[in-house]
Amino acid sequence: MENKKELRSWLNDLNLDHPLVIAGPCSAETEEQVLKIAHELKNTDVNYYRAGIWKPRTRPGNFEGVGALGLKWLQKVKAETGLKTATEVANRAHVELALEHDIDLLWIGARSTVSPFIVQEIADALNGTDKIVLVKNPVNPDLALWLGAVERLATADIKNLGVIHRGFSSYEKTKYRNTPEWQMAIELQTKFPDLPLINDPSHITGNRDMIFDVSQTALDLNFDGLMIETHFDPDNAWSDAAQQVTPASLIQIMKDLKIRKESTPEADYNDQLQNLRAQIDVMDNQLLDTLGKRMKVAEGIGSLKKQKNVAVLQSKRWNEILGKMVLEGEQYNLSEEFILKLFKAIHQESINHQEKILNK
Ligand code: PEP
Ligand code: MN
Repeated sequence: MENKKELRSWLNDLNLDHPLVIAGPCSAETEEQVLKIAHELKNTDVNYYRAGIWKPRTRPGNFEGVGALGLKWLQKVKAETGLKTATEVANRAHVELALEHDIDLLWIGARSTVSPFIVQEIADALNGTDKIVLVKNPVNPDLALWLGAVERLATADIKNLGVIHRGFSSYEKTKYRNTPEWQMAIELQTKFPDLPLINDPSHITGNRDMIFDVSQTALDLNFDGLMIETHFDPDNAWSDAAQQVTPASLIQIMKDLKIRKESTPEADYNDQLQNLRAQIDVMDNQLLDTLGKRMKVAEGIGSLKKQKNVAVLQSKRWNEILGKMVLEGEQYNLSEEFILKLFKAIHQESINHQEKILNK
């Protein structure tokens, strides 16, 4: 996919003085529910009104959406409130129905992005459309799969594209419903700075109390917008009850979020920034230098072990190092999570260096 400036044109054309906001219930439940929430969201910062019509549920037996009937309710939303509408599509029939009902923005869900067949079917059905199409990340943290889906849409001559970051499943339970793996969103932005990037704190957190913090992190990382599930009675929602916020809380969240500028021309700021960045560059080089030297020492250990025919991995010693580093890291205000990740990576590299010597 080429990084074309036009990728942002639909977003630029909206001329917003705040991040793009897509809000509305996880699922359309009844006509009254859809319209009531929409009326509470009109004349706010909300740009697109979302509601799931076909719901991909992990296990059968849960509410699977009202189906095409809900599209009529979304049309009423547009007529009564002026809000533009958005829904998830997961196959050709969904696309055709959504287009017939003049839905303005379609998104591909995380469980669909994993399947190139489904994505291709959707791309073919949408060929040449001027609707906005947003691709949620696949459930697994695979950047190529995510970008591959965007590429399929771009190849089908769909110009108004963007992506939604909704976090990734993990085997281990964490405080998130879907862990954000922010570094992936950052890599995506670095590679495709013009591809609009929306954050979905609702599906990342699974918990309404964490929506604000994740939204703020996203804005601090230059995300272009937010998709936040909103319901007038979240606790009794038919799906994703724990993560939905009321329209009043959404309005408060939008008010409290700090929107930072990407940059400023002020000379004083730029001088200070340059100075701090120069310091970082020096330290990064020192880190590399130290790591390189550390690996040389590891190679020394490798030759010693080779002479005596001793195994590379000494788990007792390694666990001692890790424990010590976590404790020492605390004094430098470095989190346990970071220390473990960092030292596991260093250890792996060290083992690779020793293996090379041993197998020479
Ligand atoms: C949704 O937005 O309601 C949804 C089902 O999301 P995801 O595809 O991210 O799970
Ligand atoms: Mn949901």
